[in-house]
Parts: sequence; C-alpha cells; structure tokens
Amino acid sequence: MAENDNVANNHGGFYTRVFGDTEFVVPARYNGLTPRGLGAQGTVCAAYDTVTQQNVAIKKLSRPFQNVTHAKRAYREFKLMKLVNHKNIIGLLNAFTPQRSLEEFQDVYLVMELMDANLCQVIQMDLDHERMSYLLYQMLCGIKHLHSAGIIHRDLKPSNIVVKSDCTLKILDFGLARTAGTTFMMTPYVVTRYYRAPEVILGMGYKENVDIWSVGCIMGEMIRGGVLFPGTDHIDQWNKIIEQLGTPSQDFMMRLQPTVRNYVENRPRYPGFAFDRLFPDVLFPSDSSEHNRLKASQARDLLSRMLVIDPERRISVDEALLHPYINVWYDEGEVNAPAPGPYDHSVDEREHTVEQWKELIYQEVMEYEHSHNPSSPRATQQQAVPQQIPDEEPPQPNRR
Ligand code: AMP
Repeated sequence: MAENDNVANNHGGFYTRVFGDTEFVVPARYNGLTPRGLGAQGTVCAAYDTVTQQNVAIKKLSRPFQNVTHAKRAYREFKLMKLVNHKNIIGLLNAFTPQRSLEEFQDVYLVMELMDANLCQVIQMDLDHERMSYLLYQMLCGIKHLHSAGIIHRDLKPSNIVVKSDCTLKILDFGLARTAGTTFMMTPYVVTRYYRAPEVILGMGYKENVDIWSVGCIMGEMIRGGVLFPGTDHIDQWNKIIEQLGTPSQDFMMRLQPTVRNYVENRPRYPGFAFDRLFPDVLFPSDSSEHNRLKASQARDLLSRMLVIDPERRISVDEALLHPYINVWYDEGEVNAPAPGPYDHSVDEREHTVEQWKELIYQEVMEYEHSHNPSSPRATQQQAVPQQIPDEEPPQPNRR
C-alpha cells in the first residue's frame, strides 16, 4: 500500500493519514502509523501509543454498518472483544470513532496489542518441534477459553492468528455467528474455507471439537508446507479430504441431511492413506533434544487424532491439551483461565436494518469511549445521543 503525504487536518485532537485509498483518522496520541494488513473487515496499521508508551495495532472498520452482514459481524466482534480476556485471544486496548454524531458516523477504529506476523507467514518457515508444539498449545488454550464462554469458532485459519517473535500467539477473531451462512456476503475479499471442518462443509450439527479440525489443518500445513485441502469450493474441498483421509463410515453418512447424504454417498470410494504416507518422516524437523516427547512420531499421532472426518471419533480440545506432543507446556492458569462472562447469543439471531445497526454500533463505541475515557470532552458530549433499540424488534421487510 503506497503512503501519501500526511494530511494534518487536526480536528478535535484527531489527525488524518492516507495510505493508498484508505484514510486513517486517529487521535494524536497514536504516532508513526504504518500499514500492516488487509482483512475482510478493514485495514490494520501499526502505531505507537504515546500515552501507554506501547506499540499497538489499529484496525479501521470502514462503514461497518454498510450491509447487515458486515454490521452484525462488527457488532459481534466488538462485543466479544470487550468480553474476552485471555493471553491467547487478542485484547481490546481502545476503541474510537472520529465522527462526532450519529448522523456523521462512518468508521470504527479498534486498538489492539501489536503482534509481529500472522500465522500464514510463520507456516512458511521451518519450525522446530518446540515452536510448533508451543504454537499449537496456545491455539488450544485460546480455543478452550472461547468454548468456556459458549463461543465455538468454526472458522479458525492462519490469517486470523497472529504471533510475536517470542513465539507467543493470539487468535484475532471470533469466527462464525450461530446463524452464519444464512446471509449473503457481498465483498471482493475471498473467504478462505480450507480450514473448515467436514461438519461445517456438509451443514451438519457441530460441537466444540469442530475447532480441532482447523488446528489439525494448520498443524498439517506447518509440516507439509502447503495447504492440506485447498478446494476451490465446498465440493472440491470435500473431494480433497476424502482422497487423502478416505471415505467416512456408513455411520457418519447416516447423520447427513438426505440431499447431502445422497451426494456424499455417490462420490467414488477412497481408502485414504495411512498417516505415515500423508506425513512421512522427511517432512518433520529433527526430534527435540530437550523434550523427548517432541518427536515426529508423537506429532503424527496427534495429527491422526485431529484430522478425523467424523467428529464423534475426533479428539476433543481437552484430550488434545493432554496429548504428549502438547502437554509439555501445560500450565493450569493458561488452560483453565477463568471463563469470561457468558456471551449473549441472541446477538447472533438479531435482525436489524442497516440504520438500526448503525445506531447500535455507534452506541457501543460511545459506551466504550465513555467508560474508558470518562474525562474526555468527546465522551461526555456524545453520551446522550443514541437510543436503545429493543431486542424484540420485528424483522424489517426491506432489509439489505
Ligand atoms: P483482520 O482484519 O483482523 O483479518 O486482520 C488482517 C491482517 O492484519 C492479519 O492477517 C494480520 O496480518 C494483521 N493484523 C491484524 N491484527 C493485528 C495485530 N494485532 N498485530 C499485528 N498484525 C495484525
């Protein structure tokens, strides 16, 4: 992204910087804005916070209420980021909008801890067993924490996991809402589905170990150095899965919806490959000299328990945390950190118009600004504006 000259129109302590076609309007406390990444929701910049004297990441959500899908996601992410507090889940340090009224409201900025790279970049590297198992351990701790709040992610992928050079790891997002998939997402951004579990691809019910599949895909990719199941669509992806792991049992087929079952049963039958063929010894780093359980055979054993098509036969998060390849890092305080307050799932089911979402999101940002910077004149000035929209609002006929 090319950086244009600084546009220093200081208004209310905010200043503007332009990167390509993205404008960042941030409080003066944040210095040295540098573009870092582009995601489905917006652009991320690194910056230095002169107040807390730490490096931060600032994510701009451009018009998060532009359509109901974006709005619901932005609202949910914001609510969850405020709720969750775990070292392996990204934490919210600040949130603001440069606009001064609901009428002018356009953008939300979320300030988070700054990490060094996302996992896509790390997967390319030759990781030793220590690093690989430590990264997996932290993913599992973060996932377990989300589960303890009733949040089942279902869409974990390398681009939404960030790491620091000291090998610490944080999950960036909260995955699919319970009702996800019912709304059509109009975005030029290509959604990565390679890490989605068979039960998500095939539209089945799911439980917590749906997230273990994604961890298995990520681990397999770290070892193989390439995506395990790179399907162009769900059908192609299902083919890639069964070609390697084999056609699932009749018992699994019986749990599919009739139309899906008809399709799945009529695919050619594949015996699948043994795990030492899928992941031969040559792909693994050399065995650890420090931890005798960190070796290829244990890594492969864990993979073979995570990459299981049938969730009834797949390892659980708790079992994975106790696996010899993972439990070398086991720390009670990290694995069983206190659960966050329960997440109000009615958010996932809520239906609002774009205008109503705009007001709800604005209200959340104002509430945050007020509770975190109560002395700020902006916070007090903006507090009175929004009205609470009742949860029971009936669905609107012409929702976009
Ligand atoms: P997102 O919009 O959350 O999907 O993030 C898009 C990309 O921005 C990620 O894949 C990361 O490369 C980068 N990124 C997001 N948040 C952070 C952060 N807190 N620290 C460092 N990089 C980040």
